[in-house]
Amino acid sequence: MKIDKFIYKKPYLIAGPCSAESEKQVSSIAESISNKVDVFRAGIWKPRTNPKSFEGIGSIGIEWLKKVKKRTKIKVATEVATATHVEQCLNAGIDILWIGARTTVNPFYVQEIAEALLGVNVPVFVKNPIHPDIGLWIGALERLNNNGVTRIAAIHRGFFTYESSAYRNDPKWEIPIALRKNLPSLPIICDASHIAGNRNLVSEVSQIAMDLDMDGLMIETHDNPNLALSDSKQQVTPTELLSLLQKLVLRKQDFKNRKLSRDLKSWRTEIDKLDTQIIKKLYERKVFVEEIARFKLQNGLTIFQLERWFEILKTRKDQGRLQKLDPKMISDIFELIHKYSILTQTNIMKEK
Ligand code: PEP
Ligand code: MN
Repeated sequence: MKIDKFIYKKPYLIAGPCSAESEKQVSSIAESISNKVDVFRAGIWKPRTNPKSFEGIGSIGIEWLKKVKKRTKIKVATEVATATHVEQCLNAGIDILWIGARTTVNPFYVQEIAEALLGVNVPVFVKNPIHPDIGLWIGALERLNNNGVTRIAAIHRGFFTYESSAYRNDPKWEIPIALRKNLPSLPIICDASHIAGNRNLVSEVSQIAMDLDMDGLMIETHDNPNLALSDSKQQVTPTELLSLLQKLVLRKQDFKNRKLSRDLKSWRTEIDKLDTQIIKKLYERKVFVEEIARFKLQNGLTIFQLERWFEILKTRKDQGRLQKLDPKMISDIFELIHKYSILTQTNIMKEK
């Protein structure tokens, strides 16, 4: 992918209301935050889960954004979901467009948007799809790139989950990290508001994003969040935004100090040794698994025994708890180990 740099500040800050609601609301929020952020955001066309919800103010909102741009001189951004949206934004000189999570999921929509952008090269941010499919996310970025959009960035807004959690959308931090591995020069911005879903958690999510070395933050900001027509629980006031930004701790990636680098290196050597031991133990475990498979085969036993599996899970979680390890982490690890044990055993059965 050909990615051109267009973000020169870290953290790159995008803030503004979830939805543009009135000219006064848009201009008042913009006035209070324009000297603290790099981009003013406001949704004009809102894809909502329920059709009874506020679906956005529509094209008139573009005029309000144009005024914000003229008065405050900061860049303005809005969400586009169709070629017509793109056309209207380009005609009005909207600086940055973003593709929402509900649009990234559909390659037809993304292709249509990408084609409408052919030959324009306006910066486009692509939110992750609602469900944790990194291929779909990269695919959307590629579709834009194939149509000449080289100023692109990803927005990590978390993923839908049935599991109960304090957050609205599961961050699954491993996914943006994998994206970074795949496309090292692609800026990744964390939409802390849509992950948190609750204004009290936005600061915590923003800090994690900074500690994971993300490039920027998108934070929904409203002058009167409780009365917001969309996402009212997760929006902060301009004053809260300022205090959140002041509290943010920006840590560095590398030490300039030689002694500190050496100390870190020696801790890492210890981790390397422990990981080598874990791998060796996994090998030893596999040898036993193979022995057991042969034994089961000779004695006509099935590979999988539910009771034994429950016992493994329970005892390992209990042991983990004694070591103050997260039981969910232990069950995730053992589910994986167990999955591969079963695979090893099935392969042995097949050999016979
Ligand atoms: C938004 O930014 O207001 C929005 C609708 O976000 P998402 O596409 O992440 O749900
Ligand atoms: Mn929103």
